[in-house]
Amino acid sequence: MSSTLSKRPIVDAHCDTWLRLLEHDSRDFTKTDGHIDLERLIASPVGIQVFALFTPPKWGEERGLRQLMRLLNLAKELMARHRSDLRPVLTQGDVDGPGVGVLLSVEGLDVVSEDLDLLDLFFHLGVRSAMLTWNGRNRLADGALTQESGGGLSRLGRQAIRRMAELGMVVDVSHLAERAFWDVLDEIDGPLMASHSNARALCDHPRNLTDRQLTALGERRGVIGINFYSRFLVPDGETSSEDLLRHMAHVLDVAGPHSVGLGSDWDGIESWPVDVPGVAGMAALAEKIEARFGTSAAGILGDNFRRLFRAVLPPS
Ligand SMILES: [Zn+2]
Repeated sequence: MSSTLSKRPIVDAHCDTWLRLLEHDSRDFTKTDGHIDLERLIASPVGIQVFALFTPPKWGEERGLRQLMRLLNLAKELMARHRSDLRPVLTQGDVDGPGVGVLLSVEGLDVVSEDLDLLDLFFHLGVRSAMLTWNGRNRLADGALTQESGGGLSRLGRQAIRRMAELGMVVDVSHLAERAFWDVLDEIDGPLMASHSNARALCDHPRNLTDRQLTALGERRGVIGINFYSRFLVPDGETSSEDLLRHMAHVLDVAGPHSVGLGSDWDGIESWPVDVPGVAGMAALAEKIEARFGTSAAGILGDNFRRLFRAVLPPS
């Protein structure tokens, strides 16, 4: 890139690559036909990739917990095998470093059931972020696609995010029902992330955030990772990087330039911008972001998430 940006400026706050490998019964991350593999990741300008540990709620608490442990084991194995290229992001000091930083996040805490000690266990095993729920209702919170009540956090859910904040885990509000979102902001003070959510004003989907929510996250110095899923970008039809830039521009206007980031959702989405073919398309996208957003580009590409991680993760 013809710019002053660092060699690996990008932070991508969400992908489902570990689950994809597990579902394909593969422990080979070197080269895959998915959105992300090691070869393309290393060749890309991505400096930190957040890898979700997603266990679909239909698996239930018990099978879900077993699968989560399998995912975590897979992540650890791959990070050990490729340790010259991948570095775990566990503390503030790991935000910068050689190779590609890997930050692990649990997508949906159904598996903790009523046992919040599991949050401490996940933390000790290297998890540094979590979403209380996926799209449905669990013991902690209601998700964005919960039909009946649009309810908020349970008492257990409030305890869970307080515990996460104490431990130094990034609380991720993507996938929450709107009332649960406001309950989270009510319960803890620090900055939050919405790792993979877009602007509701541009695409009216319950997984996207209203301008009120975006404003509130901006006031908290939170960061919103723009999701590449076509159905969160436009109601129907094909999409291109122009649609990503439109959502970035809207979030920038409403929440502020310090609150825009990237949260691709690679390997977890069925449709995406035609000119951004997985992680191999990130370099060209970064050039477009630079051309469009000028001095705000470095923040959007990764510096905003880096600032958030440094503010929340435990000291080195
Ligand atoms: Zn998701």
